[in-house]
Amino acid sequence: MREIETDYLVVGAGASGMAFTDTLIAQSDADVVLVDRRHRPGGHWLDAYPFVRLHQPSANYGVASRPLGRDCIDDFGPNAGFYERAGAAEICDHFGRALDEVLLPSGRVRFLGRTDYRGEDGGRHHLVSLVTGAETTVRVRKKIVDATYVESSIPSRHRPDFEVGAGVTMIPPNDLVDLDRPLSDVTIIGAGKTAMDTCTWLLDAGVDPERIRWIRPRDSWMFERTYMQPLDLVARYMQMQAHWIEVAAEAEDGRDFAHRLEERGVFVRIDPTVEADLFRGATISLGELESLRSIRRVVRKGKVRGLDPDRVWLDGGEEPAAPDELFIDCTAAGVRAVESRPLFEAGRITLEYVTVGFVPWSAATVAAVEAVRPDADEKNKLCPPVVFSGSIADVLRLAYAATSGLVARTRESDLTAWNAGCRLNPNRGAEKHLDDTRVADAFASMMTNTGRALRNLKQRSAGAAAPLHAGS
Ligand SMILES: Cc1cc2nc3c(=O)[nH]c(=O)nc-3n(C[C@H](O)[C@H](O)[C@H](O)COP(=O)(O)OP(=O)(O)OC[C@H]3O[C@@H](n4cnc5c(N)ncnc54)[C@H](O)[C@@H]3O)c2cc1C
Repeated sequence: MREIETDYLVVGAGASGMAFTDTLIAQSDADVVLVDRRHRPGGHWLDAYPFVRLHQPSANYGVASRPLGRDCIDDFGPNAGFYERAGAAEICDHFGRALDEVLLPSGRVRFLGRTDYRGEDGGRHHLVSLVTGAETTVRVRKKIVDATYVESSIPSRHRPDFEVGAGVTMIPPNDLVDLDRPLSDVTIIGAGKTAMDTCTWLLDAGVDPERIRWIRPRDSWMFERTYMQPLDLVARYMQMQAHWIEVAAEAEDGRDFAHRLEERGVFVRIDPTVEADLFRGATISLGELESLRSIRRVVRKGKVRGLDPDRVWLDGGEEPAAPDELFIDCTAAGVRAVESRPLFEAGRITLEYVTVGFVPWSAATVAAVEAVRPDADEKNKLCPPVVFSGSIADVLRLAYAATSGLVARTRESDLTAWNAGCRLNPNRGAEKHLDDTRVADAFASMMTNTGRALRNLKQRSAGAAAPLHAGS
């Protein structure tokens, strides 16, 4: 059995593990062993459906040390007027190049692909090659880093939790592009962004909305894409932050928080007549919303419990199925269920969100804190976990963790300097736009309201049980 030694053993080479490792080696002289069951870095993007795109601009995604895309504003198509958003191939290429051109050439990172982490005993961590079966033991001088904790559950690798009867045709969205016959009746199952992307793709391909039935057990709150723009459009991101803080200072509960943000145009939902209770930090444009609203056959009878050739069984009843009905399974959880836990523990880092929905910025922030602060308690104060439970009811708790962490880090001049230069930070460079009254007003509003917001969020989220990450 081979034995190796390193400072940090990072398990998972998705966006979390890659962004963490990239910043850690830039900010320290650490040695890292990075392992993943998959053969290359990129995580779930390696198996994503072919029409997937980032929710957010490429400008703030990937590793900090190299760009993703060209920071262009699209001038045509559904993303016109917004910063470009990469698809899966471009994201995987970015992570592959980051490994080959930054991490490995540093001489301080070793990557073991197709390698499974099997746990620890007596201070030795066990790895098994999924190609040869060979075992490797790792002695970790500093920390094991769990970069699998918020790992994504995606359609192509997920099994639905309902019965699919013989003769029923159900596919993941990945297979839609390979169908060998024209579509007739199609049913989308799922309430999350994957289901929305799938509906949008079908509509863009010219499928009549009347042929699409959408089983949507819950409705979702989302950010309107205008407010998630960086760089030259950062005024909008600053306005979003200012609205978020204003609302946080006054909201009585999660639902109230969402409605107040909706009044300001920051939060949107597909059907304003239906109370939404899902929130995972997804972003959508008004154009996509308009297109999705053309689908009128929405079934709200709870979750699917079973599919038969002529019938759909749901929590709240049943629905007929056409003889040729094609079902598309979009029920993968996205973010799997986990308990919130401290990020920094003795000999261990658990990568969780420390920002509202930006995975790479979160992981890079954790690495920057790890590189410059020795004390675990102090690091945990700087990085409280921001837990997406999936429920809007928990958004005050999420907002409290995100805001208190941001305020704590802003008080530290070295971390502020790092953050100001980090390309993953969506408000990078905002202070250079102070001649824009929207930016100046947003800064002034946040200065006025942040203290009130923190007090209100703390009081209203105190005592609630720690949430779990939840699925679709
Ligand atoms: C469709 C979609 C769009 C999204 N868009 C955005 C966006 O625009 N912005 C954003 O910030 N987030 C977005 N997200 C959230 C997304 O989850 C993150 O961006 C990110 O890709 C998650 O990365 P991760 O490394 O945490 O998890 P994953 O990508 O799931 O990677 C985890 C890795 O750990 C490996 N692994 C697990 N267990 C082991 C083990 N025992 N041994 C070895 N390896 C192991 C897995 O093989 C996997 O490669 C999106 C998610 C989805 C599904």
